This record gives sequence, C-alpha cells and structure tokens, in this order.
Amino acid sequence: MPKGREKSGRFRKVFVKTPGGDTKVHLRERKPSKAVCGTCKKPLLGVPRERPAILGKMPKTARRPERPYGGVLCSACTRKLLQQKARGESQ
Ligand SMILES: [Zn+2]
Repeated sequence: MPKGREKSGRFRKVFVKTPGGDTKVHLRERKPSKAVCGTCKKPLLGVPRERPAILGKMPKTARRPERPYGGVLCSACTRKLLQQKARGESQ
C-alpha cells in the first residue's frame, strides 16, 4: 500500500539492483520544469533543471548565464530590451 506522500506524483520510480540480485523500486523526487524566458516563454538555455537544494551546491556561474538578465530573459529578448534602452524608447 503506497503512503499518502507517494501518491502525490512528486516522485518518480527508479529501479535499483541490490547486491543480492533483486530489483527494488526506489522513489526519487522529480526535477522541476524548465526555466522559461519572462517575455517570450521559451525555455532558457544554460539554466540547469535541478531542485533548489542541488542548485545551492552548484557554483553561481553554473546556475545561469553571466550576462544582464541571465536566467530571466532569453538572449534574443535581452538584446531587444538593451537596444530599446540604448535608444531611449519606452516599452
Ligand atoms: Zn525571450
């Protein structure tokens, strides 16, 4: 009988082989969905799909692209926004 927390859909099944030759089912938490651009909603490249506990252990440079709006906007939207700002246009 599965426990209540196991029925939530938060976990995925992983089949693990034990030293005795059995195959057991372990439950591991699913990865979060991909990070998306704040403007065009396309998936962001260079942003890892990991749980916050694992992201905290990674170096900051591995968590998002090192540029203005890195990890928030995609490169195309960033370029467009910076061009608009440089020209003094209102959005
Ligand atoms: Zn975008």
